[in-house]
Amino acid sequence: MTDISRRAFTALKMLNDAGFQAYIVGGAVRDSLMNIPAGDIDITTDAFPGQVKRIFAGHRVVETGIKHGTVTVILEDESIEITTYRTESGYTDSRHPDSVQFTASLQEDCARRDFTINAICYNPAGGIMDYYGGREDIQNRRIRCVGDPVQRFTEDALRILRAVRFASVLGFEIESETKKAVFSCAHLLKNISPERIYAELIKLICGINVKQILLEYTEVLAVFMPEIMAAKGFDQKNHHHIYDVLEHTAVAVESTPPIPQLRLAALLHDLGKPHTFTIDENGVGHFYGHGETSWRLACDILRRLKVSNDDFRLITTLVRYHDTPLATTEKSVRRALNKYGETGLKLLLRLKRADNRGQNIRDFDRTAEYDRLEEMIDYVLEKQQCFSLKQLAVNGSDLMASGIPPSPQLGRMLDTLLDMVINGEIENNREKLLAAAEILRNKETGI
Ligand code: ATP
Ligand code: MG
Repeated sequence: MTDISRRAFTALKMLNDAGFQAYIVGGAVRDSLMNIPAGDIDITTDAFPGQVKRIFAGHRVVETGIKHGTVTVILEDESIEITTYRTESGYTDSRHPDSVQFTASLQEDCARRDFTINAICYNPAGGIMDYYGGREDIQNRRIRCVGDPVQRFTEDALRILRAVRFASVLGFEIESETKKAVFSCAHLLKNISPERIYAELIKLICGINVKQILLEYTEVLAVFMPEIMAAKGFDQKNHHHIYDVLEHTAVAVESTPPIPQLRLAALLHDLGKPHTFTIDENGVGHFYGHGETSWRLACDILRRLKVSNDDFRLITTLVRYHDTPLATTEKSVRRALNKYGETGLKLLLRLKRADNRGQNIRDFDRTAEYDRLEEMIDYVLEKQQCFSLKQLAVNGSDLMASGIPPSPQLGRMLDTLLDMVINGEIENNREKLLAAAEILRNKETGI
C-alpha cells in the first residue's frame, strides 16, 4: 500500500481516534495492489456524515452527497471522499436506488459495490478486508460482479459500461457470467444519463486494451451509439485497407495517444464510410466525401452525449477534416494553423498518423510525409510566422488611426491583409500593411 498518500492515512487515523472504523476502499486499494499509481481516495466508515463533519471541522469539508452519506474532506489540497457504510435498495429505474440505508457492517457496504476488485478495503491496523475474492480476481485479471450480475446490472445499468471500461483500462477479461449479463442487460444503458455514459466512455477509449474491447463489446457501445454497427464487418474492397471499417477504427483509436478528444475523434472518424461506399468498374471500393458524412454522424452522437461546446467543436473538426490533404509547404502550414489553431493542427496530424496505422501500412506508409509536415509546423511556429489576426502587425485601432471608420469593411480589410500575409504576398510589416490597407480602401467604395 506504498502508493496511497499520507493524507489518506491521516484521515483514517482521525476517524479511528474518534472511535470509528474506517477503511480505504475501491480504486485506490485496487490500483496499489496492482502497483499502479492510485487515483482519488475513497474512505468508507461507520461514522455518520454529521460525525465525519465534526471530526474534520478544522478542514475544508464539502457536502458532496450528504443524503447518500458522502462528505468530501480536503486535506492539504487533496480531496478525500468519506462515505458512511451503507446498503441500497429498490432500484426501479436501473439508475439509482430509491433509498439508501446506513449500516454498521463493512461487509454489507462491500456487497453494494460493483465489482470484486472494487470491494477490497484496507487500513494499516486491520490490513486487507476482502469479502468477495477481489484479490484473487486481480491476480487472475478478471472483472466479476459482487453478487448476481443480472441483478446488479438491473439495479444500476451504468455498471455494464463500467465493467467494459475497467476491462479496457486494466487490460482484464470480464468473467463469463458477468460477461453474459453485460450483453443480456446492455439495453438497460438506455436508462442512463448521457453525462454518466460520457464520463465512462472517455475512460474506456483511453484504456490500454481499447482495440480488443471495441471489437468485443461493439453491441454494448451501440446501445447509445447505434451508428457504430454499420462499420462492423464492412469490407472496404480497397488495397489501401487490410481491415474492415470497425477493425480499422479500433486500430486507429489504439494508435492515438490517450487524449480523450483525440481518441473520440478516432472512434468517430470513419462512421460515414458505410454510407458513402461506391465500387468502381475495377471492383475497387471508394468512400468519397466520407469525412463530411462522418462529421454529420459525429455531430449527432456528440450532441446526444451532451459534450461541452469546446469538445464538440474540436472533435467534430478533427473528424470532418481527417482525410483532407495537408501540403508540406510553409504557406499551407500557415493556412492550416489559421484554420485549426496550433493544438487542433497537432491533434489532426496525430489522427492522420493513427488513420494510416490502421491502413495497409506495409505498402502505404505515410510516416515520412507526416514527419516532414510536423517539422514544417514546428518551423513555422518557431519562426513565429504570422497565421492569425493576433499576430498581424496591424490591428483595428491602427486602421482606424489611419482614417478608416469602424465598420464591417474594417474587419474584412484585416482578414484580407492576414490572407495576403499567410499567402506570402506581403511581409507582416506595419508600414507595408498600412500602405496595402490604403490601396484596399481606395478599391472599396464608401470608406
Ligand atoms: P477510478 O477512480 O480509478 O476510475 P474507482 O474504482 O475508484 O476507479 P469510482 O467511480 O471512483 O471508481 O468509484 C469508487 C468506488 O465506488 C468503486 O471502486 C466502487 O466500489 C464504488 N462504485 C462506484 N460506482 C459504482 C456503481 N455504479 N455501483 C456500485 N458501486 C460503485
Ligand atoms: Mg475513484
